[in-house]
Amino acid sequence: MKALLTVALLGAAVLSGCSSASTPVAVSQAATAPAEPAASTPASAPVVAITPSSTTPVATADATPAAASNGSSSPETISTPASTSVPKHWWYPNWSSSGVKGTAAAWLSSWPQPKVFTATGHGPLSGHTILIDPGHNIGNSTHTSQINRHYWVGLDKICNTTGTATDHGFPEATYTFDVAQRLTRILTAAGAKVVLTRDQNSHSTYGPCIQARGLLGGEVGADLGVSIHADGGPSSGHGAFVYSPGVKPGYTSSSKAKQSYRLAGDVLKGLAAHGQVGSTYLHPNIAPDKQQGTLNVASIPIVIVETLNMRNAGDAAKAESASGRQSIAAGLAAGIERWIAGR
Ligand SMILES: [Zn+2]
Repeated sequence: MKALLTVALLGAAVLSGCSSASTPVAVSQAATAPAEPAASTPASAPVVAITPSSTTPVATADATPAAASNGSSSPETISTPASTSVPKHWWYPNWSSSGVKGTAAAWLSSWPQPKVFTATGHGPLSGHTILIDPGHNIGNSTHTSQINRHYWVGLDKICNTTGTATDHGFPEATYTFDVAQRLTRILTAAGAKVVLTRDQNSHSTYGPCIQARGLLGGEVGADLGVSIHADGGPSSGHGAFVYSPGVKPGYTSSSKAKQSYRLAGDVLKGLAAHGQVGSTYLHPNIAPDKQQGTLNVASIPIVIVETLNMRNAGDAAKAESASGRQSIAAGLAAGIERWIAGR
């Protein structure tokens, strides 16, 4: 989660990653922040159609670090069964920088669009809806002015950050997008309806901003939400840790915090069952946090999972291999199933 670009450090935590504490800004400064994207935003950015109706899991070829780092201009697309678009008429609060909820704003056309995937099988998740948020977007790095706009999400935060990368240059945004697709295939096969917060990982788009990612789960009636990330921690440490929402009046009730904390524990158990241990460098492995905009604004149980440490050689190898990403996805799915079963 650690920001790659210095510009992203304007609002990113230096120590623990992109979605952690932001630097407070003066109201007078924040008041100048535009509420909508600049005119230079490529509003005509193509929304890439998702390839529907592949009935078998698609083995995504290992992304080579070289290709990943230079970033192809062609957006990656999702190939997961039975997708449908989320209705575009849904509106989302446009959180102001002054600490007051602002006027409504649409899901921006310059963002990737949310996507719904219907169940492909019957199983323990039948009848449930799961929100999956693949952290960041590869295009964030080329939309620095847009992602550095400030929003109020229970605290002042920027729209998004670039995320981290392995030492070989394999980006977190590409990793999370791939893991999310693998996870979607597993969950839909187990009966779930899955909603992804973004349908592409492309240089022509940025975001969506964190508040939209967090709000989407409630809009679609999801049972729970999982935001997939990877950390940029010390190279000597490895393993997963989880942020859960801390109790915050107006944002996170004690019930939401409690259910999310249980989800965090279940996800760590699921990951451990598939070979990914808890973090060796951050203890405890679950951090209730009031500084995460995505978690604050969500109305459902939700967690941010730092699935591995991209700066650790062993975890990086896992991130860069299809089998490694599949094991992370399987672990996340096991955690979600554990949480649903325990309700
Ligand atoms: Zn991240």
